[in-house]
Amino acid sequence: MAIFLTPDKVRNAYGIEIKEKILPDGSKNKPNRKLTSGVPQWVTIHNTDRIVTAEGTTQSEQYARATHNGNMSGVSVHYYIDDKDCWQTLREDEIGYHAADGYWGPGNCTTLAIEIIMDGSGKDYDKKAEDRGALLAATLLHQYNLGIDKLTTHSHWYSKTCPAYILPHWETFRKKVDVHLNRLNIGGDVDGDGKVTASDARLALRAAVGLEGLNETQKAAADVDGDGKVTAADAREILRKSVGIDEG
Ligand SMILES: [Zn+2]
Repeated sequence: MAIFLTPDKVRNAYGIEIKEKILPDGSKNKPNRKLTSGVPQWVTIHNTDRIVTAEGTTQSEQYARATHNGNMSGVSVHYYIDDKDCWQTLREDEIGYHAADGYWGPGNCTTLAIEIIMDGSGKDYDKKAEDRGALLAATLLHQYNLGIDKLTTHSHWYSKTCPAYILPHWETFRKKVDVHLNRLNIGGDVDGDGKVTASDARLALRAAVGLEGLNETQKAAADVDGDGKVTAADAREILRKSVGIDEG
């Protein structure tokens, strides 16, 4: 029976539950160096294939576990995400081996790597994995004040068809990330009209008490404190923003 990984920490970023299990320092499958300039300058998207998983676990956990037990050989990435789960295996300020552009390559040395686990079937789970990957990418761009021009592909750094399942419709994916990113950057624009108004606060409050269902982008926009839930506190903060009171 497989022994599954236990996360060191679980956090919620705009509705994505992230399980942290950082590859120990000194591991052979990471360079054990900080990113050039210390912070991410790009977010690089990869695809990796769905695999047969042990019963009772997820695609992401199985990949994260393989990273820890040496079954991924020399490879390491910051995030694995699928339709249900997400694991972080590198700190956000350290370099991974994912871009295949070498020890000093800019793909490895300046970027955060997200492996979106897909099979290209276009089935619901496949679309969901892609959608969750888009939201995760947006949260990271937002967090590091990066524009949509800093979202890129493995193929940008190295001659390889990756992310294989997303590249054929990369523009659509990029736009999806951009929509999330704009909403996150504005913060509180729940209805997506480009402004933060009292109606956004009202929508958030209705969602908080269960009177309104929000889609993923709306939830991310409404969750202004980023704790993964839309609450009355978010609604209050949105209302303050709408009348120009900045809590800072
Ligand atoms: Zn790749």
